Amino acid sequence: VKKIAILTSGGDSQGMNAAVRAVVRSAIFHGIEVYGVQRGYQGLLNNDIFSMDIRSVGDIIQRGGTILQSARCLEFKTLEGQQKGAAILRERGIDGLIVIGGDGSYQGAAKLSALGIKTMGLPGTIDNDISFTDYTIGFDTAVNVVVDAINKLRDTMSSHERSSVVEVMGRHCGDIALHAGLASGAETILIPEVPYDLNEVADRMRQNFEHGKRHSIVIVSEGVGRGEDVADALKERYPSIDPRVTVLGHIQRGGSPTPFDRNLASRLGDFAVRKLIEGDSNKACGVINGQLVATDIEKVVKTKKDFNMEMYELAQRLSQ
Ligand code: ATP
Repeated sequence: VKKIAILTSGGDSQGMNAAVRAVVRSAIFHGIEVYGVQRGYQGLLNNDIFSMDIRSVGDIIQRGGTILQSARCLEFKTLEGQQKGAAILRERGIDGLIVIGGDGSYQGAAKLSALGIKTMGLPGTIDNDISFTDYTIGFDTAVNVVVDAINKLRDTMSSHERSSVVEVMGRHCGDIALHAGLASGAETILIPEVPYDLNEVADRMRQNFEHGKRHSIVIVSEGVGRGEDVADALKERYPSIDPRVTVLGHIQRGGSPTPFDRNLASRLGDFAVRKLIEGDSNKACGVINGQLVATDIEKVVKTKKDFNMEMYELAQRLSQ
């Protein structure tokens, strides 16, 4: 490859900027021209493409969001849209594309690679719902945001002997709830991967309160439903607990990326560039047990992420 482009797509996540920076600087280091595509696949179809140099990615490693912006683009789901995108890249002599995003964005990259553009995917989502990587870019920062919020809730809850229901993001993946739950000492973690019984949850809360516990935190992953509904159901079963509900929402997608996310993004961005130089294509880059890996996008997209049951059981044992 001689010229490559980079875009961010789908939901934004902290660390996308660090990945863009790594791609741009690594490519230039290897003598390759780099182009930025503004607003994801929509920007590609609008030919919103500009040349990037070393300085264009200065002062962004610490910023949340994405300087390239993101968008959803229905037209790109059609064959005509994909052909138009490939043609626009070819006209500019761009033969490689790095896509930072989630599952949907990966599928777009796979379609382009079938049309002759070499593509690499980087896992950019707070949800940690992508297989063949232990972590996605943004997940660690999102978990930090949740833990920080729960620390604050604990202060006020202990003072009033209250319980809190905290609804967190993650779509169909419970990882944000699980990791933040273990780290913040949540009493109950409700996630889509593990069936639960609200009668048991309410009974346990009652017993714990009777045994002197002064506060309790229930984390609800959005994949199991709304925090408000869980709180209502618990109150019905055990009226004296009257939990307060906090929905953290998009705050979880903001803030400066943690050093972990910055370093993950930097390693993955550089790796994707090197893979394109080697002539590889249609791969999703990730880190497994500390090692950089590139896996066929089709395989990644159709494999459900492993769930860490051991960690869930540990959280349960420690939350008496
Ligand atoms: P997140 O998980 O953070 O929401 P995502 O990448 O899964 O990220 P999507 O909205 O699913 O987010 O996808 C982003 C864009 O990728 C879509 O707007 C569309 O342009 C493109 N895309 C999604 N699915 C496909 C597909 N099957 N074929 C081609 N392009 C697709």
